[in-house]
Amino acid sequence: MSALFGTYARSDLAFERGEGMRLFTADGEAYLDFAAGIGVNALGYAHPDLVAALKSQGERLWHVSNLYRIPEQERLAARLVEASFADRVFFANSGAEAVECAIKTVRRYFHATGAPERFEFITFTGSFHGRTLATIAAGGNAAFAEGFGPPVEGFVHAAPGDIDAVRALVGPRTAGILVEPIQGEGGVNLMPERFLEALRALCDEAGLLLVFDEVQCGCGRTGRFSAHEWTDATPDLMAIAKGIGGGFPLGACLATERVGQYMTPGSHGSTFGGNPLACAVGNAVLDRILAPGFLEHVDEAGRHLAWHLRQLAQRFPQHVVDVRGRGLIAGLKLVPNAREFVAELRRHRLLTVSASDNVLRLLPPLIVEKADIDEAADILADALGGLDADPSSAA
Ligand code: PLP
Repeated sequence: MSALFGTYARSDLAFERGEGMRLFTADGEAYLDFAAGIGVNALGYAHPDLVAALKSQGERLWHVSNLYRIPEQERLAARLVEASFADRVFFANSGAEAVECAIKTVRRYFHATGAPERFEFITFTGSFHGRTLATIAAGGNAAFAEGFGPPVEGFVHAAPGDIDAVRALVGPRTAGILVEPIQGEGGVNLMPERFLEALRALCDEAGLLLVFDEVQCGCGRTGRFSAHEWTDATPDLMAIAKGIGGGFPLGACLATERVGQYMTPGSHGSTFGGNPLACAVGNAVLDRILAPGFLEHVDEAGRHLAWHLRQLAQRFPQHVVDVRGRGLIAGLKLVPNAREFVAELRRHRLLTVSASDNVLRLLPPLIVEKADIDEAADILADALGGLDADPSSAA
């Protein structure tokens, strides 16, 4: 029996090393990775710049507490501010912590500005914000909150896309709106541009704060640094994680000065958040993502992937009923069971991940080349074709 909590439905695969787009088992079998640690390994595996940054920082200083200035952290914060709407950054170690910080920062803002009764968030069905007690209450999937006691108070849910439903939920307790511009776990659901812009307008009208959770869709994944840059909607706060650490645990809450100014000494903290090792890696990730041409590469690769996925949907309409996504966060809504199809693709040496709504999710490293996408598309076509030969294999 395993000594681990049984929280994950793990496959039997174990990998020994990775390089670029591929993972290798101990006996040398190569897998093409279109899951990237669920959107984490933005620069693939063993990227020489990340290895060099980790080694050189590792030889100097891994960790000091936030009781001291951390130059690598200050530099990373300044660069995130430069690349976004934000003025201030708080570093954490995960996506859930980054969202949790955003929730606290919003509540603190209203507390400090004389409206402590405003603590409630409008969030969305199908959303995912993490696994802490507050973020499971914020999330729009009741299954993740089941059995964990009374839900943290202050979250009400609306259907994504329905601005009238959101408006109807605004009341004297409402503090903010928390939304993923693209729902990842929920099934790669793109929020319509006009919906995000309408949320911004509603927040301005009602004095609410708008929080974007870009933990999965941010940090270059859509071909812009932030996914919301495809719209005219700018948030007051944003949570990021996953890609920013390139595989090193790192998350961040970004805020405007207007909102972030009330997070004063003692109001929040993290032992590990923003330590020198994490921030050295984060800076090395940004060196690549913000380099001229990188986001254009992601955009182009994303269009190539979308083209292939549309072809597959046309060729296999009996198995693929929808193509979703933007840039390198893509989804195929399937007829056959998506989890079982992920297992079938593993047998073809292609790694993917399922999402809610019976969606097959593709989140390759952002360094993916057209040849890798062509290879993945061939494997997808083979596996989809195989379903016709043996309809019971992934039914
Ligand atoms: N928010 C979004 C949109 C996510 O996709 C995730 C994780 O998948 C989280 C928050 C939670 O991140 P973490 O698992 O790092 O706590």
